[in-house]
Amino acid sequence: MAVIKGKPVADSITAAIREKTEELKNNGIVPLLTIVRVGERGDDIAYERAALKRMEMCGIAVSKVELPADITQADFEKELVAANESDCDGILLFMPLPDQLDESRIRKTISPEKDVDGVNPVNSAKLYEGDKTGFVPCTAQAVIEMIEHYGIETEGKKAVVLGRSLVIGRPVSIMLTDKNATVTVCHSRTKEIENVTAAADIVVAAMGRSKIVKADWIKKGAALFDVGINVDEDGNMTGDIDFESCEQKAGYITPVPAGVGGVTTSVLAKQVLKACMLRHGIQEVL
Ligand code: NAP
Repeated sequence: MAVIKGKPVADSITAAIREKTEELKNNGIVPLLTIVRVGERGDDIAYERAALKRMEMCGIAVSKVELPADITQADFEKELVAANESDCDGILLFMPLPDQLDESRIRKTISPEKDVDGVNPVNSAKLYEGDKTGFVPCTAQAVIEMIEHYGIETEGKKAVVLGRSLVIGRPVSIMLTDKNATVTVCHSRTKEIENVTAAADIVVAAMGRSKIVKADWIKKGAALFDVGINVDEDGNMTGDIDFESCEQKAGYITPVPAGVGGVTTSVLAKQVLKACMLRHGIQEVL
């Protein structure tokens, strides 16, 4: 059994980005990320802090647009269009947005070329088609970065993805299919889910259900990727996988915290760099 952590993966991605941004700087180009935050939600602020730190480590500049929680749809769209038309390379929007905002419309308003968290349907279509000029949701890609960094075989393997959201479950299932795994997607209506997971070589858990994946759900030696973030009454963070019960039986297991979540901001940085390079007509894609 090996506990596989996110930090070595994030460090290695960061070092590669840093090298590229130094090169770009010598040509007078500094990639710029614009963060658009509505209101003051604690998890948005925590992610923003982590993103700011990562961008600095990567040599990427950041500008922030902070908007009131009661902003109207029209005003929000104006701000987003202004960000689209500004000199930034990438735009990060925190979701979910407050109820008065039409998220589906907003996803379509963000310029696909600056959509570094892959929320615009144009980028979902590019993922679907295998068009590498697109942008994918950062957390979904973080799972793939973990798999690649730790050399986990996917070809011909049975993979089960728990969750079918647009940000994680669906994109991860396409990405794993592209890596030649045979993928099954489970959701809240799946019957006998533990029998499905028990046949899997790879399990990606993204349900937001604390510790529901137990040892008897998994096959001995399986690789387990826990994307879930759940916070209990005492403020402790847990994943969707019961780490204590699965640790000995799994071949690989990611902890929560310090697992997949720790890779997300470095994927974000990678996509800002990619957007910058594409915008400047630099063909080489990371
Ligand atoms: P979401 O939109 O709520 O989707 C959850 C999915 O899990 C849905 O497809 C749901 O099924 C399924 N599900 C819920 N309960 C289930 C159960 N008992 N059995 C099987 N499937 C079940 O959540 P999300 O945005 O994808 O996020 C998932 C988790 O990842 C959350 O804990 C979130 O906090 C975390 N997250 C982590 C990061 C990171 O950086 N690590 C980033 C974003 C999110 P239905 O479709 O049938 O409802």
